[in-house]
Amino acid sequence: MTEFGFIDKIASMCRSLPDNGWEGIGDDCAVLLSGDRATVVSCDMLVEGVHFLRHAAPAHIIGRKALAVNLSDIAAMGARPTAALLSIALPDDAAGAWAEEFMAGFTQMASEHGTALIGGDTTASKQGVSISVTVIGTAPAANIKRRSDARAGDIVAVTGMLGESGAGLQQILSGRCDTPAAHAHMNPAPHTAEGEWLGSRREVHAMMDISDGIASDLRHIMERSGVGADIDTEHVPAFDDLRTALCAGEDYKLLLTARADRFGLLAADFEARFRRPLYKIGHITAQAGLLRWLRGGTPEDVDFRGFVHF
Ligand code: ADP
Ligand code: MG
Repeated sequence: MTEFGFIDKIASMCRSLPDNGWEGIGDDCAVLLSGDRATVVSCDMLVEGVHFLRHAAPAHIIGRKALAVNLSDIAAMGARPTAALLSIALPDDAAGAWAEEFMAGFTQMASEHGTALIGGDTTASKQGVSISVTVIGTAPAANIKRRSDARAGDIVAVTGMLGESGAGLQQILSGRCDTPAAHAHMNPAPHTAEGEWLGSRREVHAMMDISDGIASDLRHIMERSGVGADIDTEHVPAFDDLRTALCAGEDYKLLLTARADRFGLLAADFEARFRRPLYKIGHITAQAGLLRWLRGGTPEDVDFRGFVHF
């Protein structure tokens, strides 16, 4: 079974459970509306040997990343992170100095993004470090951006360059850990300010964060919105090669769709606010499930696929 097959299975098995007002599985965060406010919650795991190698990255960098990838899911909803819970399983050889340095990185990231640490769990591990972080965010209910709100005719855009993290991972695996791309891979900067700002803009329809590469992530917006997409590959802001930009993942930029007739204004305001462009990379079509990669306006016969966890 694939990762997404398993998640579908979980979603169908919990259909008989009460939702208690929560919008559950399927978006970057679960959402609870109360009056004109929304609370959003998400959790993500980092497992030694799968997501990081203890000998390849300093503990404080892993602490930063453990929270960063979760903050990114809050940003993806158009919300502001307020609090986190941290659960950590530590083998004997990580329980002392390693754990302290990890916490220094974690609290540094929390401080940079105005996030409280309000609880968690600590346990021993027989093998490797496992980390699970839960984050909670808040937003006006009207600001929440769901994967299901893309409409035919929308512009598809991203909030930053793609593929730097993937290029960095390739460099790390070939032994070059001290490059800018390697740093970008180990120490991602979640677009929290951008996410909250985009949340406040009515012309933004759907949004998510880019964790698996847009070749995979865009399909989630397409599926949940019942739409298709045409991507102009020459407009993708690729750090290096196009395949890495589309498929490698872990960039933690935001992928969004927005009303075409208001996109020029949105992009100009974004650039004035963040001093970086909002990159227009294509548009949403009415052909449900059809993702096309265009070059010079013509569909190309290429098969880009994002990162698959298992
Ligand atoms: P993201 O990459 O944004 O963290 P994922 O691809 O990990 O999202 O998960 C997709 C959706 O499936 C999310 O809504 C997530 O909460 C849900 N999900 C993933 N794993 C589980 C699980 N084991 N139990 C319940 N829901 C899950
Ligand atoms: Mg996400």
